[in-house]
Amino acid sequence: KAKSNNSGHHVYRSVDNSHGETRLRTLQELRVALENDQLVLHFQPKIDLSAGIVHSVEALVRWNHPTRGLLFPDQFLALVEEANLMHGLTQEVLRKALDQAQDWASQGRPLTVAVNLSASSLVDADLPERVGAMLKARDLTASALILEITEDFLMADRDRARDILVRLRGSGIRISVDDFGTGYSSLAYLRDLPIDELKLDQSFVFPMAEDPRAAALVASTIDLAHGLGLRMVAEGVENATTYDELVRYGCDYAQGYFMCRPVPAAQLDLWIAARTG
Ligand code: C2E
Ligand code: CA
Ligand code: CA
Ligand code: CA
Repeated sequence: KAKSNNSGHHVYRSVDNSHGETRLRTLQELRVALENDQLVLHFQPKIDLSAGIVHSVEALVRWNHPTRGLLFPDQFLALVEEANLMHGLTQEVLRKALDQAQDWASQGRPLTVAVNLSASSLVDADLPERVGAMLKARDLTASALILEITEDFLMADRDRARDILVRLRGSGIRISVDDFGTGYSSLAYLRDLPIDELKLDQSFVFPMAEDPRAAALVASTIDLAHGLGLRMVAEGVENATTYDELVRYGCDYAQGYFMCRPVPAAQLDLWIAARTG
């Protein structure tokens, strides 16, 4: 599973433990994986805390490796970046996520999907048009998609990031700032960007139930976000105490194992059916 270091950033462990040969083989396998449809998506619901219903679902990539079984992002994403294959992975994930959204819509129960975009997606200046075409091809409106970007996406090349966000947002796609609080961007800087929501990093959410000061920090961050007209999502909600506190603080959405782990779409459908009775 994804590990975090003290600053909350993900530390990606490579599949191999540094042997050149294994590494080369893994790179080879990655290319094959992208060509042969070995990537699968799991979906985790984001709950609307005021209505108590599913607001959207986040698509999280897994690699269904032919011999090693199901691999998690911390086992292969670093290598994807190194091998310059992130563009291909993002395309695959977007395609699969929107196929699933189309499937849900055609069953008369539309669900918004959130897709993670790495900072390296910034090299793709045509991203907004590409995404627009993908939505259109599936008869989906822009409201079917949320894009989750991290602060390094925003900080890498500010002008470029802003330009891409303005075009995405202009087409109606919502933008979420992931892992909020772990990077260096200030709320003052975010205020001037076309974004819709902040996703408070789980490292701030985990200690809430135990530590009143951690809870107070979350409460005031929610107020600050609201003051700027942004929605707040809390991730990493693992118990009822944290869930109840977030409701009390007026947090908009929450995501976490307490409600539901990331699961294949069919399993999510069952979870939603059981919840709605
Ligand atoms: P993230 O975007 O911050 O996603 C949240 C991670 O926290 C997910 O790990 C999720 O399974 C996990 N999580 C959710 N609720 C809880 C909880 O209550 N407790 C705990 N301990 N963990 C929880 P996952 O699926 O292993 O993904 C790790 C990271 O990999 C993601 O962090 C994201 O940065 C990256 N990632 C995943 N899928 C994609 C993708 O399609 N594209 C890109 N570029 N990155 C992705
Ligand atoms: Ca995310
Ligand atoms: Ca996150
Ligand atoms: Ca994260």
